[in-house]
Amino acid sequence: MALLLDEINYCPRCGAAVTLTQRFGRQRPVCPQCDWIYFADPKVAAAALIFDETGRVLLVRRANSPQRGLWTLPAGFVDAGEDPAQAVQRECLEETGLRVQITGLIDVIAGQEHPRGAHILLLYRAQIVDGKLQAQDDVDGAGFFAVDALPSLAFDTTARVLAKILPPGNSQI
Ligand SMILES: [Zn+2]
Repeated sequence: MALLLDEINYCPRCGAAVTLTQRFGRQRPVCPQCDWIYFADPKVAAAALIFDETGRVLLVRRANSPQRGLWTLPAGFVDAGEDPAQAVQRECLEETGLRVQITGLIDVIAGQEHPRGAHILLLYRAQIVDGKLQAQDDVDGAGFFAVDALPSLAFDTTARVLAKILPPGNSQI
């Protein structure tokens, strides 16, 4: 939490220097001039777990840092005002060229894995509707992998999810 508080030095409304002040249960940057309070909101990301008919999982390779060249689930940040399920569909289309439909919410995972990562990850199960698999946008590889022969993964969360969630036919979900 301390890191988030340090990010704000000036009031975005009136430009005065903020001061750390006890408000709503914790120290928050508060503007002494106009009483604006900085509430550190969590960054929310949404990811898709998509299996093909043989039970292989769809992964994409990150083209940008952090964790460039390593593999992860199709995912992205949820925009303000955006339905997270639609964010997943948007990210899948942007990254893989595939149109998908959401078939369920698997898990809500809290905890930031790296400084630029999300604080909350919504993990959806999805199915491919149509499209041709092609890596694009901020990924430079996309493919289906057997869960016992995964490439190098970018995030521990992905490894934990894939260790826990089995492909359709073997899963309770
Ligand atoms: Zn102010």
